[in-house]
Amino acid sequence: MQANGKTIAVNGRDYYAPERPTVVICLDGSEPGYIEKAIEAGVAPTFARFMKEGAHVHANSVIPSFTNPNNLSIITGRPPAVHGIAGNYFYDTASGVEVMMNDPKFLRAPTILSGVHDAGYKVAAITAKDKLRTLLSHGLDYSTGRAFAFSSEKADQATVANNGIDQVLEFVGLPLPQVYSADLSEFVFAAGVKLVQHHRPDLMYLSTTDYIQHKVGLGTRIANDFYAMIDGYLALFDALGCNIVATADHGMNDKFLPDGKPDVLYLQDLMDEWTGKGAARVILPITDPYVAHHGALGSFATIYAPQGSNVDALLVRLRKVDGVELAQTRKEACARFELPADRIGDIVVISSKHKVLGTSRARHDLSGLTEPLRSHGGLTEERVPLIANRKIVLPPGHLLRNFDAFDVALNRMH
Ligand code: ZN
Ligand code: ZN
Repeated sequence: MQANGKTIAVNGRDYYAPERPTVVICLDGSEPGYIEKAIEAGVAPTFARFMKEGAHVHANSVIPSFTNPNNLSIITGRPPAVHGIAGNYFYDTASGVEVMMNDPKFLRAPTILSGVHDAGYKVAAITAKDKLRTLLSHGLDYSTGRAFAFSSEKADQATVANNGIDQVLEFVGLPLPQVYSADLSEFVFAAGVKLVQHHRPDLMYLSTTDYIQHKVGLGTRIANDFYAMIDGYLALFDALGCNIVATADHGMNDKFLPDGKPDVLYLQDLMDEWTGKGAARVILPITDPYVAHHGALGSFATIYAPQGSNVDALLVRLRKVDGVELAQTRKEACARFELPADRIGDIVVISSKHKVLGTSRARHDLSGLTEPLRSHGGLTEERVPLIANRKIVLPPGHLLRNFDAFDVALNRMH
């Protein structure tokens, strides 16, 4: 933080221009406890040092506690009501089709990265999956030579014109990782370190994938190995003199029955029974092209009620259903969770800690679930860690959000 430094305004918030390379990291699906367990196992000494000598606090994510709304909130510094991305999918009532929101045309706010880039600084964004790269890198001008943005998934396809860099596999020195792997996230860190060593971006955003957290719980060997891998790269960023802030997009919980089968409330089946087949439309904003690790099952759903139906009466019935933690009108949910009303149905439903919401039983392909289901989306996955390698000073009583990560990294580190 600079006492007399230049500030850059983005979406109504001011950020000090980066003084040293600043790295903001979204550790996808990092439920509180994963890092602590890795430290207890003795494999995460850098995390331990940051938490002791720097900062370790908890922050609230955006609800729905899904990847895209939270990544976009982190990179814009604002809730979904401002940036417009409330999930992977929304239902376009005008055209009657379900639309995937992975195109930047759905983004309603500039990113902090593009704001800092426009102010003349060098910036970078590296994501695990390519679907996020297109949103997170929106507004960057690669012709300046001061912008880099690519994904692990499509690292082999990066070009100077579209990504600010080419020959990424050779640059990083790793093979192209599989989409469903820990390597996809490792590539993000390895590429980030190389970028700092060779191009020294002033501000960089790294976003991993929660493949491991969907698979295994806290303190398992696989989880500890994953955080040990991250720990090694954090040590490198630290040694390179970077300011580092790591947070998460959401937590993760077990969502299965004692027999290991997913504990699902099939909302479309329920609505069909109550209002007639196909009359209501249930949207699961977790749905995306990569569903093998969660079967498109999360703890948040939105329902478009049949025209002329009594929404209040439906809410009363829904609240009595086992596993429904919250059922609210669009208006109530948008006010409470700061969501864009035009991309939310008439009703928002959130399930309890160990339950997920489905559409119809027949529409979910659960064949990719090789482990008992772990997922997210609800209030029980709202709390996430925020860790920094230097001390941070927050205003007293400040309720920290994960989308304060850039504010912490640029304005509050000492
Ligand atoms: Zn995620
Ligand atoms: Zn996930």
